[in-house]
Amino acid sequence: GVEREVLNIVVVGHVDHGKSTVIGRLLYDTKSLPEGAIDRVKRIAKEKGKPFEYAYLLDAFEEEQKQGITIDTTQLQFRTEQRDYVIIDAPGHKEFLKNMISGAASAEAALLIIDANEGIQEQSKRHGYILSLLGIQKAYVLINKMDLIDYSEAKFNEIKQEMNEFLHNLHVFPLKYIPISAFFGENMITRSEKMPWYKGEPILKAIDLFEKDRGLESKPLRFPIQDVYKFDNRRIIAGRIESGTLHVGDEVLISPSNKLTKVKTIEYWADKDKTDSIYAGMSVGITVEDEFFNQRGEFIVHPDQAPLVSDTFKANIFWMGKKPLVKGTDYKLKLATQELECEIHSIVKAIDATTLETIEDAGQVKTNDVAEVIIRTKKQLCFDEFKNNQLTGRFVIVDGYDVSGGGIVSGLVKAWQAVS
Ligand code: GDP
Repeated sequence: GVEREVLNIVVVGHVDHGKSTVIGRLLYDTKSLPEGAIDRVKRIAKEKGKPFEYAYLLDAFEEEQKQGITIDTTQLQFRTEQRDYVIIDAPGHKEFLKNMISGAASAEAALLIIDANEGIQEQSKRHGYILSLLGIQKAYVLINKMDLIDYSEAKFNEIKQEMNEFLHNLHVFPLKYIPISAFFGENMITRSEKMPWYKGEPILKAIDLFEKDRGLESKPLRFPIQDVYKFDNRRIIAGRIESGTLHVGDEVLISPSNKLTKVKTIEYWADKDKTDSIYAGMSVGITVEDEFFNQRGEFIVHPDQAPLVSDTFKANIFWMGKKPLVKGTDYKLKLATQELECEIHSIVKAIDATTLETIEDAGQVKTNDVAEVIIRTKKQLCFDEFKNNQLTGRFVIVDGYDVSGGGIVSGLVKAWQAVS
């Protein structure tokens, strides 16, 4: 059959604002729960003398997982007519940030939950900040527990406006604000009759409107050179195509050394593998018209879709080194096949990854902290912004022999921020 599209989403929000209830409801209403799960949860609730809650569904899963039965809570899935969804679990900020920055998890879209009765809390704002830190641009804000404020449009608008102002300053532009009552199932699967003033989609319809990123094949070509071999007097450039497509005869730019040439051949071992074009994900060898001295680390790209090239850039990093990350110290940076010396030129902001509190006047980044930094490399580096290309916008920092940090490129340093 045709492969179904998969979208990874993360659900974040201040504790008790309704994360588990929203997830439990989505799973229940899309019939994604294992056989008998609801009955079991109902029975447990009754035994404890408590009313049934959708939020218990997740606890029940976790409990079963501990006992080695059934579901992996880090892989909660449900489906709509349009596609499959995987809910990326964010057990704590620290794990989530670490997994996202290192590439172990990849949330493509986010749902941020705010309790309508409690209003926006510090933690809600910090979650907004996480989204901006990770370059997650697809986000909806769910204003939950509308039942507790009599489904008031005025209160909904108040919260929406306040959150919108805050998020815009972070350059996060939520695509939608949805008033819901997860507990009573309002605006979850179908439009709520309790809120006729809301003209938008319920959650399940709205998430189908998140646009999936273009596939790697249709992104700009990024072919980092892994090695150059001499073979029969020909220089064969080998590597893995991270994104894009390459054809024999294409004009290509070799970056950052800025040489133009043409693709002469695509190498193959057996006749059956002969091809004129190669795609993202393939490990290949090619030859080019001009026999430059190409070296490991350089990117082969199409000239009209060049990557960024600089020795100074802004990044968001997660530090897990045994020693703190210190300004001005030399480290090794690895991005795609490039490896070069770098230093942290400045720490713009350091954040405790567990509480998401800002650490004032940080001169260093401690283990398990997150930071916005400006990095300087000893030579020119080519890269992309993470939001444009996750493979060439991500790097690791090596301290001595240990991989001690991961980072994502957030942008170039603007002239007015130029550093001496
Ligand atoms: P989490 O900590 O964010 O996962 O929050 P939960 O989903 O566990 O919900 C916290 C409490 O709020 C629970 O007692 C829920 O029953 C309750 N709750 C969740 N959604 C709603 C809602 O829409 N209306 C009301 N009145 N209570 C809700």
